[in-house]
Amino acid sequence: MNVKLLADLRSELPSSIIIEDTDVLASHASDWSKSAALAPPCVLRPETTEQVSLILRLCNQHQQAVVTQGGLTGLSGGATPAAGEIALSLSRLQGVIDLDSKGQTITVRAGTTLQTIQEAADAAGFKFALDLGARGNCSIGGNLATNAGGNQVIKYGMARAQVLGLEAVKADGTIVRAMNSMLKDNAGYDLKQLFIGSEGTLGVITECVLRLHPKPRSVNTALCGCASFDSAVTLLGHVQSQLGTVSSYEVMWRSYFDYAIENVAHTRNPMNEAHEFYVLIEQECDGTDHAAEHFLTVLSEAIDQGVANDVIVAQSAREANQLWDIRDAIADILSQIAPLANFDIGVPIKFMEEFIDQVDRELHAKYSNLTFFVFGHLGDGNLHLCASTGNADDAKSIYAQTYEIASHFSASVTAEHGVGTQKTKYLHLTRSKEELAMMRDLKRALDPNNILNPGRVVDIG
Ligand SMILES: Cc1cc2nc3c(=O)[nH]c(=O)nc-3n(C[C@H](O)[C@H](O)[C@H](O)COP(=O)(O)OP(=O)(O)OC[C@H]3O[C@@H](n4cnc5c(N)ncnc54)[C@H](O)[C@@H]3O)c2cc1C
Repeated sequence: MNVKLLADLRSELPSSIIIEDTDVLASHASDWSKSAALAPPCVLRPETTEQVSLILRLCNQHQQAVVTQGGLTGLSGGATPAAGEIALSLSRLQGVIDLDSKGQTITVRAGTTLQTIQEAADAAGFKFALDLGARGNCSIGGNLATNAGGNQVIKYGMARAQVLGLEAVKADGTIVRAMNSMLKDNAGYDLKQLFIGSEGTLGVITECVLRLHPKPRSVNTALCGCASFDSAVTLLGHVQSQLGTVSSYEVMWRSYFDYAIENVAHTRNPMNEAHEFYVLIEQECDGTDHAAEHFLTVLSEAIDQGVANDVIVAQSAREANQLWDIRDAIADILSQIAPLANFDIGVPIKFMEEFIDQVDRELHAKYSNLTFFVFGHLGDGNLHLCASTGNADDAKSIYAQTYEIASHFSASVTAEHGVGTQKTKYLHLTRSKEELAMMRDLKRALDPNNILNPGRVVDIG
């Protein structure tokens, strides 16, 4: 690392912010994907936006590459340091700054965990409508940088839809404060959108104003067993037409469901018979007996019509959590089957079954010892495929083969986890030449020295 830069940082920042302890460096060596782990030469943990600004100004002057890190739960390698990159950790930029009950907004620092925000909203009688399995560890800055999706996109949209205002620091240290707190604001370009979903390549997010929603009085949860993919799709139409918008509609192929039940300790199969597809449905409602009865009636109709073969409706929050445990078992499964190829492909519902069948067929034909399963956010057109032979080189080939197949089905190489370092070479399968050129133009305009997360998303090096 540049000795002069280190001296400048030391002279301008409190010593507690610059960390060179080897154990700490090792804990910043990779995101959750664990691919290409490499400890950074030092970790900077600023406590204020002004310190973030100062760090970036100095790094920019010295053309020092920086990788921004939130909770390190990313699954695309974006926060994993490349050789020589300093890690800029937002972990000390924590906390709720303000909760405005009248305006239904919450203002937080970027390092605050998603769960902290959910709990603060809940305590004030509101709901923060972003949720994902990594909620206890991921930071809101990382959620916005990756435009995270999760379990409730079908009703509330992605992370982007939860943001009203944002503060970010540009590569040259300029602080851009765009802390709008109103639903409507058309005063010029909506600059916050540049930083949301750009995975830390255009600036470092330091604060944000987020939307809150009224807290639902009750939540109905059910697990349905279906005989075919077509039935799972028909069931979606049925519940939407009868119940209105559902808040979650998660599908699990039998391969995923069986693996979770057999291999993850805290899961339990509530059904007596096996099904080819399992659907977890959640509906938020007004807490009346009538709403719960209607939910049951609609799902009973689905059985009568042969759309679902079995339905378990949770009778308590504990039972609902047990159903969600099966879906959330992926957190344990990822480490059990690593190294793996882990996909978050976006694919139109009309092509989903054919696409999965082709991948399943071709991968099984090539690898005799393959573990392969599928689950995901059916209603959002987003599936997770996990494939592992236990061999890292096989995982690389599986990525290439699967993305090649996906390119024939109008798919997106990433629906929610982001491009990071892992998908840059496949981005052209999803984005046109013109789109890629414009992305590089934006990157050059905002970060001409290419110091922010270089090589992630688009390469201008
Ligand atoms: C068990 C599990 C379940 C998951 N489920 C989902 C899911 O359902 N949906 C989903 O979308 N994702 C999911 N993820 C992936 C991950 O949790 C999300 O991508 C999350 O948004 C990453 O947040 P983070 O704070 O951990 O970011 P990090 O991993 O630290 O960083 C991710 C990217 O954002 C950049 N970044 C981080 N903070 C900032 C900042 N303040 N400013 C600018 N750039 C920044 C980093 O440089 C990196 O490129 C899951 C992960 C796990 C482990």
